[in-house]
Amino acid sequence: MLARCDLTLGNAPDRGASDGEERDGEARHGEARHGEARDGEPSHGGASEEATASDALPARRFGTDPERRARNAQHRRMARDLAAAVADEAFVLHYQPRLALGGGGWTGAEALIRWPHRRNGLVPPGSFIPLAERTGQITPIGGWVLRAACVEATRWGSLNVSVNVSARQLADGALLRQVAEALETSGLEPDRLEIELTESMLVDCGLETLLTLSAIRDLGVGIALDDFGTGFASLAMLKRLPLTVMKLDRSMVRDLPGDREDAAIVRAIIATGHALGLGLVGEGIETEAQRAFLSASGCDEGQGYLFSHPVPPAKLPAGFIAAPQEERMLA
Ligand code: C2E
Ligand code: MG
Ligand code: MG
Repeated sequence: MLARCDLTLGNAPDRGASDGEERDGEARHGEARHGEARDGEPSHGGASEEATASDALPARRFGTDPERRARNAQHRRMARDLAAAVADEAFVLHYQPRLALGGGGWTGAEALIRWPHRRNGLVPPGSFIPLAERTGQITPIGGWVLRAACVEATRWGSLNVSVNVSARQLADGALLRQVAEALETSGLEPDRLEIELTESMLVDCGLETLLTLSAIRDLGVGIALDDFGTGFASLAMLKRLPLTVMKLDRSMVRDLPGDREDAAIVRAIIATGHALGLGLVGEGIETEAQRAFLSASGCDEGQGYLFSHPVPPAKLPAGFIAAPQEERMLA
């Protein structure tokens, strides 16, 4: 299960940092990006174990010895730096706003983690979350993300905040406690928090996962199925899980409205989601034509560069932070 999640994150090269500032930073990510390529390889359970395991593999796969040693040294450096960052809680959250497609303005924002690194600039999640998953550091990182995002959202009037949760965080049994603590320390109303899970995390989920998710839902917290359309979610799974929202993956939105098959599939997913009582969110909306198609197809909310890149809290759109209800309406 963890290997599948690693692949989801590690194989998403164009999901890197994205707003103006972040694009500048990305050019400085040579080292982190290099690490990302290795993240797509089979996981061996930690940086030092990884060096041992790759030593046993043929040189033609991993390059010459000096190359391999350099890569391993770089990997160990990344793991050390990440451990220090976890101890110092030295991460930042950017937020990507979500919009009601039928009119009515912003509905909330998704928290997206970045790691400010002294040499590599602002490192995007795809470059360090897989490593944090393998080492178990994702659990304290995930707890920090929940706390920081809930505190930030208390400044947003009644808008919601969504937080990505990792498979390891769920498997470690920490998630329910972390969610409850984040709500208690921030004072955020539970129905303004949503956690996002991916299909790959849930395909083989057992009774314990189901009970954890039900307990989180019982607190009043929303549960979104992220990146829908990239994994193996079945209708039975959609029925069994206490979901509130389905997020259509960017890959399903990309070729809309021109691709007839994608258009038909997206319409069917929206109808199915609504029949199950779920809200539908289109991800990765970059063009007006995509927005118009999703809106006409009944998709409830949208998120994407067309509306806003992920931004630091201070750069959230006007009318977002602590705006009175009526000022939140878009022109
Ligand atoms: P995600 O949760 O599906 O987040 C959406 C990703 O798509 C973000 O990349 C966002 O910047 C990007 N994106 C948004 N709109 C557009 C668009 O219109 N076009 C394109 N091309 N891309 C768009 P980001 O921030 O690099 O995050 C990548 C993934 O890392 C996230 O995918 C999520 O799975 C993971 N992630 C981010 N923050 C956290 C976190 O705090 N905890 C965990 N466990 N995972 C996280
Ligand atoms: Mg997400
Ligand atoms: Mg997504």
